[in-house]
This record gives sequence, C-alpha cells and structure tokens, in this order.
Amino acid sequence: MKRFILLKWTLYFLALVLLYRLGGLVAFYVETFSGETAGKDVCVVVVDPGHGGPDPGKVGTRTMGDDTEVLEKDVNLQIARKLKTFLEQGGIQVHMTREEDVDLSSQGGASAGSRKKASDMSARVAMINALKPDLTVSIHQNSFPQQNISGGQIFYHRGSEAGKAAAAILQKAIGELQTENHRQPKANDDYYLLVHTDTPTVIAECGFLTNPEECELLCDEEYQEQLAWKLYMGIVRYLRKR
Ligand SMILES: [Zn+2]
Repeated sequence: MKRFILLKWTLYFLALVLLYRLGGLVAFYVETFSGETAGKDVCVVVVDPGHGGPDPGKVGTRTMGDDTEVLEKDVNLQIARKLKTFLEQGGIQVHMTREEDVDLSSQGGASAGSRKKASDMSARVAMINALKPDLTVSIHQNSFPQQNISGGQIFYHRGSEAGKAAAAILQKAIGELQTENHRQPKANDDYYLLVHTDTPTVIAECGFLTNPEECELLCDEEYQEQLAWKLYMGIVRYLRKR
C-alpha cells in the first residue's frame, strides 16, 4: 500500500514537472512563431559573462558563511546562465560569449602573458560584431575599498543613444529589486567592449562583492534568479520600445 501511495505521488510529481516544462515550451513557441515576431524578426541578444579562466575579475569574501573567496567570474556566469534561460523561454535568440569557466584568448590570437586579456576582449568583440545582436548585456560585479558601498549600476557608451536607452531601462528594472539603490546609469567612453562593439552594448555591474551583505546576496541562487529576471524584464522592455 505504502509503495502504491509513493508511486502515485511520484506520478503526480512527474506530471507537474511535465506541465511546467510544457508551459515554458508553449510560451516559447507563441512568442517565437506568432504575429510580428515570426521568422527572421526574432530578437538576438548576446549575454557576456565577464572574465573567466585565468582572469577571476573582482574578488570578494563571504564573511557570513565560511569565509570562502568569491570570484566575480563565477557569479557572472551563474547570473548569465539564469538570464539566458529566461530569454530563451521568452522566444529570444541568445548567444553567450562563454558557457564555462574559460577565457576567449585562444580564439583571439595571442595565448600568453599580458596579451591574454586583450586577446580575450578582442575575441568577445569579434563574436558580438559577427552576430550583430539587438543588444549585448555584459554581466559584471563591482568592488570598492569602502565596504558600505552597494548597488548595481548600468554603463553605456557615451556616443550610443540606443545604449543609453537600454541602460536607463535596465537600471530601472534592477532598482525594482534593489529598492535602496538610487544609482543612475552611467556614460563611459573607454570600456573596451563599449567602445569596440558596433551594436548597442551595456555593462551590468550587478552589485559590490566588497559589501558583505550584497556579496551574500550575489552568491545566493534565489537572489541571482530574481536579478536575472529583472534584467530579462528590462531587456524585453527595451526591445519592445525601440
Ligand atoms: Zn568585471
């Protein structure tokens, strides 16, 4: 009898999982193949998880847990993967500059020494310029000497009106999650990715790894999901407004 009940609940559970998956698929097909978004008009977004491989990016410490080191490259990839899932479920074509803990230097020509970073960056730019996406979102985490500094901020190229518009929408979207964050999107004219990409690009600094509370949040799966959801909502709003 017990075994039968267990089987029954297992079947219920499997049916629920199936329904959930099916729901995502239906949403995907409705968005992708209906009305104006059919065929070639599908939006393309590049998600760029900053750093990777030998380049850890900023480094923080989890002070509330077991004092483990937090590497920006890992947090970037975790958030980027979640964002990719949301975008795909929304019928948007997504390309990631990296899917694993690697850098792209070997694809950019040079593979050793100080040229490695430059090579990694030029490979990312080459990939983005070849794809000609509607928007590129580069995911990063920030750091600052003072621990109390917190809050995400979106950067765009000073000369890009589209980048400016996307940054404003994405800043507002993450502000819905980070309710104490009153930062404004910021223009920049020397970030490599912003300068060298031909299509609209924004850099999403999601928060500060040097702020103990924010570092905990940025490492938390649920918070990462909420953040990815807000970024997704911002991207969709931008794509619709253009
Ligand atoms: Zn970074």
